[in-house]
Amino acid sequence: MSSRTAIQDTPAILGGGAQNTAQAEQDHSASRMAGQNPVLETLNPNTSVRPATDHGVVVPVWYSFDLASRRVQEGGWTHQVTQRELPSSKDIAGVTMRLTAGSFRELHWHQADEWALMLKGNARITVYSPDNTMFVDDVEEGDLWIFPAGYPHSIQGTGADGCEFLLVFNQALFSEESTFLLSDWLMHTPPDLLARNLGLDEATIAKLPKGDPLYIFPGDAPTQTLDQDRAEIEQRTAGKPTQKFTFKAYAMKPTYTTPHGEVRIIDESIFPASKKICVGMSTIKPGGLREMHWHPQASEWQFWVKGKGRMTVFDAEGNARTMDFNPNDVGYVPRMAGHYIENTGDEDILLLEMFADPHFADISLRQWLRALPANVAMAHTNFSKEDLDKIAYKNTVIS
Ligand code: MN
Ligand code: MN
Repeated sequence: MSSRTAIQDTPAILGGGAQNTAQAEQDHSASRMAGQNPVLETLNPNTSVRPATDHGVVVPVWYSFDLASRRVQEGGWTHQVTQRELPSSKDIAGVTMRLTAGSFRELHWHQADEWALMLKGNARITVYSPDNTMFVDDVEEGDLWIFPAGYPHSIQGTGADGCEFLLVFNQALFSEESTFLLSDWLMHTPPDLLARNLGLDEATIAKLPKGDPLYIFPGDAPTQTLDQDRAEIEQRTAGKPTQKFTFKAYAMKPTYTTPHGEVRIIDESIFPASKKICVGMSTIKPGGLREMHWHPQASEWQFWVKGKGRMTVFDAEGNARTMDFNPNDVGYVPRMAGHYIENTGDEDILLLEMFADPHFADISLRQWLRALPANVAMAHTNFSKEDLDKIAYKNTVIS
């Protein structure tokens, strides 16, 4: 038997990076002679020595916010993982952002819908609707918000140390650098026109910010409570907002709870403002498995909030790829591609499965096999009826 065969194709070593690594360490064929990046090698053991079941070429399924260039300015920072950084992701782009206490992400709007999860800290948000209502709310860790495309909004860091949050957009080439900024438009409008439009004199218009657009800038903490803000706004608008643009995700009762984890599915059916983007939020305990499945409706863009694991993506024609994931990493699964996620660490994984679609849908391999007439399942697997009966048919999502 050739050593190539021993590493890649021997059934005895199927089934895991750890086993393969142990095998490969004993095999001179996997040895290295020239340089390597020891940090990446340590983070990606299943790339250095792939599981024997991996094969062929799969599109990029991994990136990390820790590789994305951070724009830092007084008041906070931002960076993004879009189709430019992860070319396989054609439906979704992501941004993470930090605002220190009192600092603002400037009033702006954009072409994509914005879905957000507050990762740490606190903020006060505003979003204005075409029906002349203003929605204002305070958000904390585990809260979501939706800002529909074209609806202008602001975010202000509050509390002791402001906040850090994830934004997800249903436009793969979205860029935080090309949003419609209030200060940018005002700087590119003649002062006399601004005076006429706002009913102010030009001396007052001269107070407006000059130079670069504000984008992120320091400010003072809100002086009013949320209720005071709301009461003040109601007098100048069409009244109370008709829609709620925030949602308490971490406080939600799980959609599925199993001994090995839980899943919260948050789509339009329970968060009506979430019309274009939805999430399956999975907690996978150590040793747990997000079961083999695929999604018929859309590609999957993942954000790893915490924990350590590995995902294998099967993309037909014998192609399968395994990658290792850590907090702040982004995962990608092409539409229809089969995949599963194993917790390889000592802590819970908290993982967001994001879709540019109003509804979450998945197909469980295990449930599908059990939903078939037994003779069909038996013909495809060589399992006996008794074997099949041992396979659970309840949807547990995580086992
Ligand atoms: Mn925005
Ligand atoms: Mn999935």
